[in-house]
Amino acid sequence: MKRILKCQKCHQYTMQETHSCGGTAITPKPAKFNLEDKYGRLRRKAKEDEWKKAGLI
Ligand SMILES: [Zn+2]
Repeated sequence: MKRILKCQKCHQYTMQETHSCGGTAITPKPAKFNLEDKYGRLRRKAKEDEWKKAGLI
């Protein structure tokens, strides 16, 4: 199975564990959806409060 790796040094995708730039390539991890969702909710909440203060809601 072919794996796509991502160089930790230059952030380029590669198939080799040691990239030509000398950096170590690792399997790219999916984004931390939970964390992003948490921040997204906080952002939305903050916006809502803003709208309420501005009298838009
Ligand atoms: Zn690299």
